[in-house]
Amino acid sequence: MKAKAAVFEGANVPFSVREFEITDVPKGYGKSELIASGVCGTDVHIFKGRLAMGAPSIIGHEFVGKLTGCDPEEAARFGLKEGDNVIADIAVPCGKCLLCRTGDDANCVNMGVTNEGDITVPPYLYGGYAEVNYTPLTNLLKIPEGVDPVATAVFACPGPTVIHGVRLAEQAGYTIGGETVAVVQGLGPVGCFAVMYLKALGVKKLFAIGARSKPERTGLLKKLGADEVLSLEKDGENAIKAKILAENGGLGADVCIECSGAPSAVPLGMDILRNRGVYIIPGQYSDSGSVKIDPQTITFKALRFIGSSQYSIKDVRIYLEFLKNRPELQPAVKSLATCYKVSDVNRAFDDAIAGKNVKTLLVK
Ligand SMILES: [Zn+2]
Ligand SMILES: [Zn+2]
Repeated sequence: MKAKAAVFEGANVPFSVREFEITDVPKGYGKSELIASGVCGTDVHIFKGRLAMGAPSIIGHEFVGKLTGCDPEEAARFGLKEGDNVIADIAVPCGKCLLCRTGDDANCVNMGVTNEGDITVPPYLYGGYAEVNYTPLTNLLKIPEGVDPVATAVFACPGPTVIHGVRLAEQAGYTIGGETVAVVQGLGPVGCFAVMYLKALGVKKLFAIGARSKPERTGLLKKLGADEVLSLEKDGENAIKAKILAENGGLGADVCIECSGAPSAVPLGMDILRNRGVYIIPGQYSDSGSVKIDPQTITFKALRFIGSSQYSIKDVRIYLEFLKNRPELQPAVKSLATCYKVSDVNRAFDDAIAGKNVKTLLVK
């Protein structure tokens, strides 16, 4: 028995599609058959050489599959059994550093990952871009009954990313709720999930800001929960600023989540926040350059900045609970996926880079 995998051959080089022998399951691991594996913005950054990654390797960190091989007793300790739909969380915090010891394992300074194993040594298939995946049982979570695994894959990493940022804002003293005027900048997968999640948290008013005007996305974003969808291209930055600053009796928004990754989003976000506003910034996930800001705005508005890069397995659990508790959202979420076979990985990347899809998934 063999399984296909898309192998990263280096920056800006097409992926190769190779077949690997399906091997025995190493102790402590689960073997899963691919259901859907997300192409993340991070993977695009790796492909373009903006994030370092060794080659050849199997990248992909948003794997959802069906557990088909494991030691039943070992698996039971993690609430798992063969036949379960599972999601893999690749993060392996060290448990020893200052951050881990103080409850911040998402920001572990010695973070390991489960998907970087050597593809020349059995069981070869640690990364997400493969028809079969081997992940330690410690890093597999059961997808609850009634939750669609393909819908789960759509926001496999954007979901926990946003949830972690919101949790950090709570830790800093701001709880998003019924009085909140919120803004989401950037309307890719992270932004789409942020819209959906903030609405579910009951915000009073929700603005979604994208760079370009895409009429077909406006309806979708409203379905996910945006009250107003604005675009820099059509509405212009000044009109957007004026509109949002009119909220809260002329003070501006309470919370802004930066999901665009565009440095130019940051000064705009600072401008539209009210005094003591909360700016959650999970979106700047590679070096896209610098931007001029006025530090005095931070001081005089007493802004709260919440940076957030990784998430912990706890955030993945919250994400799965969220999908389980909001079954009515699953069809809309699933409709965001465009699926490609693993062997069609290069077309998937071309389309993802061209911005054709909201979420690109590899499937069997
Ligand atoms: Zn991701
Ligand atoms: Zn650590």
